[in-house]
Amino acid sequence: MPESWKGAERVDLIIVGGGMVGLTLANALRGLGWRVVIIERGGAPVVRSLGLDCRVSAIVAGNVQMLRATGAWTWMEGRAQALVQMRVWDDQHAGGIRFDAAEIGQPFLGYLVENSNLQQGLLQNLEQDEDIELCLPANITDIQWYEEAVNVVIDGQRRFSAPLIVGADGGRSWLREQSGIDCWQRDYRQKGIVATVRPRRHHHGIAFQRFMRTGPLAVLPMCDGLCSIVWSNDNEQADALMAMDDEAFLGALNDAFGPVLGDIVETGRRAAFPLRAQLARHLVRPRLALIGDAAHTIHPLAGLGVNLGMRDAMVLAQEIVDARRFDEDWGSMDVLKRYMKQRLPDILSVMGGMEGFHQLFTSSLPGLHVLRGMGMRLVGNAGLIKQLLMRNATGLSLPVPRRIG
Ligand SMILES: Cc1cc2nc3c(=O)[nH]c(=O)nc-3n(C[C@H](O)[C@H](O)[C@H](O)COP(=O)(O)OP(=O)(O)OC[C@H]3O[C@@H](n4cnc5c(N)ncnc54)[C@H](O)[C@@H]3O)c2cc1C
Repeated sequence: MPESWKGAERVDLIIVGGGMVGLTLANALRGLGWRVVIIERGGAPVVRSLGLDCRVSAIVAGNVQMLRATGAWTWMEGRAQALVQMRVWDDQHAGGIRFDAAEIGQPFLGYLVENSNLQQGLLQNLEQDEDIELCLPANITDIQWYEEAVNVVIDGQRRFSAPLIVGADGGRSWLREQSGIDCWQRDYRQKGIVATVRPRRHHHGIAFQRFMRTGPLAVLPMCDGLCSIVWSNDNEQADALMAMDDEAFLGALNDAFGPVLGDIVETGRRAAFPLRAQLARHLVRPRLALIGDAAHTIHPLAGLGVNLGMRDAMVLAQEIVDARRFDEDWGSMDVLKRYMKQRLPDILSVMGGMEGFHQLFTSSLPGLHVLRGMGMRLVGNAGLIKQLLMRNATGLSLPVPRRIG
């Protein structure tokens, strides 16, 4: 290492990106004496009321267990809405299907949590650990890779050196680009419109998803009888919906969703996100691991993106903690490959599943809606297949997380 880096602060791990996934990784290492630096270029999250906070995530039951194990769940559960049932149907009257938590012997399938609440809870939980430092807002102005360490400078001032750096900096990951890792990409030419809305009737913890040829519309239960919508549409149609005033938008939304919850009478601020699937060609390099959207981005139709990312974070945490326990270099490829090998099957099966669903519900191939109807009826009537699907989707079929340490 050159002389100029000798004054760098030695830490165990550098995490780039303090979003939901980067903070989950830090939480998994909380209380274990790991010196961790999180570098986040944005501001601190703020929980807002109807009208402002439109980003919400469905966190599946398996991941709620993991968040509980880290202690972070306590900080966010007050504003989390339990999801007890999911109803899915399509606009071709090809049939519908219900997924009920009771069918797999669970009290809930997952929880709906505002992203800002989730991030704030993860941050509050970290305040208890003096070894974990959040640099916010901060930017990396220099990065150097050495055989035994990776070194970064933030805002031209502080220097850190660590055996491993983790890219948790989202779909447009700066760190991934810096490392020369390119991605397989698929642009759906669609946008997902999100907003918090108020229906006339209470949702009773039920999530609704209507599949239309133009894309799925999800209406998800939130606290105080509010709902969060994720409405995927082709770019042109999404732009037209975004340009409408609230009254016209509510009219279009009610037409698309129907009277299931009575009229939807109020909407908060809308935001539209371009939809694409993406997978990094390498999840690891010497001294580098990618997690969350930096590694993979999926269509939000099943609400699994951040759930996959949280599982990356927990598996990586377990691997590096085990490595240190056995005196291994946790930034070495031997250790990082163990993380990659464990995560790839889950990532690829979820990505493949999302692609299949998207094709099945948006393709105009003649006769496909009949096949889709048969499929829905088959799954609806075959208890075992349905239970397996539900256990997979909720992450309950994966090993129960233990407290890392
Ligand atoms: C419409 C929509 C609805 C969705 N709904 C769901 C859902 O219900 N359930 C679900 O599981 N998933 C859902 N997802 C997916 C989910 O939002 C993402 O998977 C999740 O946000 C990824 O988290 P992340 O922490 O990896 O990345 P991000 O949330 O993108 O966070 C990355 C962080 O890194 C920071 N950053 C970026 N670059 C740098 C840099 N150079 N230096 C420092 N910091 C940097 C950013 O400021 C940000 O804080 C949805 C996605 C969309 C588009």
